[in-house]
Amino acid sequence: MGRDVEFKKDLTDEIKKNADDLIVKVNQLLLRAKVSGIECECNPDTGTSVSSGWRPPAVNKAVPGAAIRSNHMTGKAIDLYDPEGVLDNWCMSHQGAMAEIGLWMEHPSATKGWCHLQSVPPRSGNRVFYP
Ligand SMILES: [Zn+2]
Repeated sequence: MGRDVEFKKDLTDEIKKNADDLIVKVNQLLLRAKVSGIECECNPDTGTSVSSGWRPPAVNKAVPGAAIRSNHMTGKAIDLYDPEGVLDNWCMSHQGAMAEIGLWMEHPSATKGWCHLQSVPPRSGNRVFYP
């Protein structure tokens, strides 16, 4: 999204490492979804399937309803474009795959239009949680 350039001073090596780790895991999950016929969609307005990736503090502050300590700020969370909830539904019925890979998701009822995945457990430890 170009934030690595615009907010270069906020992008630490640790965040980069977190994001690399997250992307590997999310790609593993998407590969499994693809095998069952679920394709990640691109948003026609942006040309990418990523609705929100890394959020520097200034960006996170401007996101309505974003958590103050959002995992998006540390490169540990991603929102994927999911207008019909197809990916959300697939993840809900494949929580074992998420557990094997090491991903957690926000409950689809809280993420209408996108699928939030993260590489750290929420405080509850639940694979699927309410933000
Ligand atoms: Zn998110």
